[in-house]
Amino acid sequence: MIHEILLVGPLQCNCSVIGDETTCEALVIDPGDDVEDVLALIRKHGLTVKQIVITHAHIDHVGGAMKLRRATGAPILLNQNDYALLKMLDVQAAWIGMASPGTVEIDQSLGHADKVKAGSLEAGVLHTPGHTEGSICLYFAPEKKLIAGDTLFAGSIGRTDLPGGSMQKIMNSLHERVLSLPDETLVVPGHGPLTTIGEERETNPFLIKP
Ligand SMILES: [Zn+2]
Repeated sequence: MIHEILLVGPLQCNCSVIGDETTCEALVIDPGDDVEDVLALIRKHGLTVKQIVITHAHIDHVGGAMKLRRATGAPILLNQNDYALLKMLDVQAAWIGMASPGTVEIDQSLGHADKVKAGSLEAGVLHTPGHTEGSICLYFAPEKKLIAGDTLFAGSIGRTDLPGGSMQKIMNSLHERVLSLPDETLVVPGHGPLTTIGEERETNPFLIKP
């Protein structure tokens, strides 16, 4: 598995480029910005992008998606519960003082237990509402790797005070769907350093049992 993580945009979103070494097919997850850098990595590995997957419709995760779609022809996938939030990209841009990326068109909704694929690599979709209604995580079971979006961070969890956020829902998502994964699962959060499920189960102040 080729897996490159780029920090994109002013909020330093972790954008993942995941490629099959044999077929050279790839997924790009959360191209929030700096699409030229993403494309340079894709060229470096000789990859063909098959799907652009968005973990949730916040501008720092989805802002570069249309530019990447124009450059690669790959479809953009997002859970439909975040379509309303996607229509608010101008408002989101104003919150963080960014230029609006314009309208982002979604080619396909991703629901719970759907699969995303690049060559022989396959990830299952976990619908994990709470940070936003349509937040998803992607779990590569054979590699024991979770792309967590803004649902889980090293030592923290996603904020729930923005429109569509719910503390009760994110706690349900974490306990029922994320913490059911094996302890050795490597977690790639939407921002900040990597961690593991076991580390977060034991030390994350939001998750440890009192
Ligand atoms: Zn977010």
